[in-house]
Amino acid sequence: MSKTIFTRIIDGEIPAEILYQDEHCVCIRDIHPQAPTHVLLIPRKPIPKLAEASAEDKALLGHLMLKVGDIARELGVEDAFRVCINNGEAAGQTVFHLHLHILAGKTFKENSLSMQ
Ligand code: AMP
Repeated sequence: MSKTIFTRIIDGEIPAEILYQDEHCVCIRDIHPQAPTHVLLIPRKPIPKLAEASAEDKALLGHLMLKVGDIARELGVEDAFRVCINNGEAAGQTVFHLHLHILAGKTFKENSLSMQ
């Protein structure tokens, strides 16, 4: 299977603004930000989508969730941010390599999670 764009970024083949990285994940700025702060937290392991993660990914998924808080603090947005994972094309997923969107800097309404 061909590499996803995120694996190519992780492998250094495509440039990106890397804000954080460790042995398990990489955090980059989204190229088309949908909020003043919009970053992507991407596991190095190319899990195509959340529903395809397995029990062996339990520690990795926990690591990602904990890193969200660290990254939000680093970006100064820890008091108000939204985390989004699109799973599947109909849910808006365009890159089939698991990633968490971290969005902040605008007001998110309680009722704005709807899908059309
Ligand atoms: P999703 O639609 O949930 O699959 O999200 C994919 C995200 O990746 C979108 O928000 C895109 O703007 C973002 N994206 C695509 N290519 C790049 C890139 N080369 N660098 C940074 N972000 C990207």
